[in-house]
Parts: sequence; C-alpha cells; structure tokens
Amino acid sequence: MGLNEIAQRVRQAAERAGRAPAEVTLIAVSKVQPEERIDSVLGQGQRVFGENRVQEAQGRWSARRDVHPDLELHLIGPLQTNKARAAIELFDAIHSVDRPKLVDTLARLRDETGACPRLFVQVNTGAEPQKAGILAADAPALVERARGLDLPVEGLMCIPPADEAAEPHFARLAALAADLGLPGLSMGMSADFEAAIAHGATHVRVGSAIFGERQPG
Ligand SMILES: *Cc1c(COP(=O)(O)O)cnc(C)c1O
Repeated sequence: MGLNEIAQRVRQAAERAGRAPAEVTLIAVSKVQPEERIDSVLGQGQRVFGENRVQEAQGRWSARRDVHPDLELHLIGPLQTNKARAAIELFDAIHSVDRPKLVDTLARLRDETGACPRLFVQVNTGAEPQKAGILAADAPALVERARGLDLPVEGLMCIPPADEAAEPHFARLAALAADLGLPGLSMGMSADFEAAIAHGATHVRVGSAIFGERQPG
C-alpha cells in the first residue's frame, strides 16, 4: 500500500465522518522495520512516527532527529518506570500510561527536567489479562491522579482484542474520553483505522499498511 495511499484513506475517512482531515494525525509505526523503508517514508514527507520500545527507538531516531528537527515521535508500547527518563527525553507523546506508579514517576521527572511529553492513558477495553492498559473502570481515577499532578493528559488509547470486532471497543473508548473531557483518542491500526476515525480517533497508529509486513525476528 504505502504512505500516500494510507494518508489519502485517512483524509477520506475523516471527510466521510464529517470531520476536518487535520483532526486526525497519522502515526507511521516504524517498529522493527528496515532502515531503508523508514528513510523512504521520511523522504515522502512523513514526520510523525510511532515506536513500541524505548531502546529500539533511541537507536533508530536519535541521529535522524538531528537531521529532521520537525520529527514527532510517539511511544505506543508499554513503558517500564526504569525507562521513563529515556522515554521523556526522546518522545513527544506517550500512549501507554497505565498505572499510578508510572504517573507518579512521570510527574517526578517532569519536576526534575521541566518537560513532559503529551500523555494518553491506555485502557484495556477488552479486559484481557495479558494485555497492558488499565481497566476501563479504573481509568477515571488514573486520569484524575495525572491531572492532580498537573500532567498533560491529552486522551485515551486502546488496542482492541485481536479476535473481536474493534468497533465496540472504539465506541467505548470514545464514550469514556467524552465523560472525562479528554480530546484525544489514539485508536485504529492497519486493519481498522477507517472505522476508528468514524468513531472519533484523533491519532491512528498504522504500521504494516504503510511499511509492508514487519520482518520476523
Ligand atoms: C505495532 C503496533 C501498531 C501498528 O500495527 P499495524 O497492524 O502494523 O498497523 C499500532 N499500535 C500498537 C500499539 C502497536 O504495537
């Protein structure tokens, strides 16, 4: 498929939903992709990228960031507290805030460094035991905790269960964000980003449909 086709489908999905295309940010998920594919997508003008591991992202983006100061990097994978400092140094947004300890760590690092990325609270909408994210019932308290510490909470994020229809999860996340007065909704991947946009996604995270299948290993 490639970047141009996906960017066009994002715009069209926004228009079909009666939304301005600028309301939807396309995050190109570059995890595990070969360098030449990343350079090709950069060369086509894409500047917003997503990664799910801090160390992998440091290796891939630290030097490229010097060449392209307009890069915007989003952490979309789980964050251990011992990687939080490295994460806030590299990333412009973190989509995987999912527990009080991480909120407290981010607040402490913000106090130390004076900076904090934009934050999304990850909600485990399918209540899957193996999956990251806070349960929907516990999300309001976590958002309150982050707001109480003056952290920049922008929205909610979810990864629907692989074996279920995604749309009910998108609808649920959108309703929860509306309840909490949060404008951001990080939802939708290669297989379902158009449905996510119809449900109000402000950030879609698209990997394989832009770059091709991730190489194993
Ligand atoms: C890998 C990943 C994506 C992108 O997945 P594709 O199906 O390749 O589009 C999106 N979100 C998260 C959290 C991911 O880990």
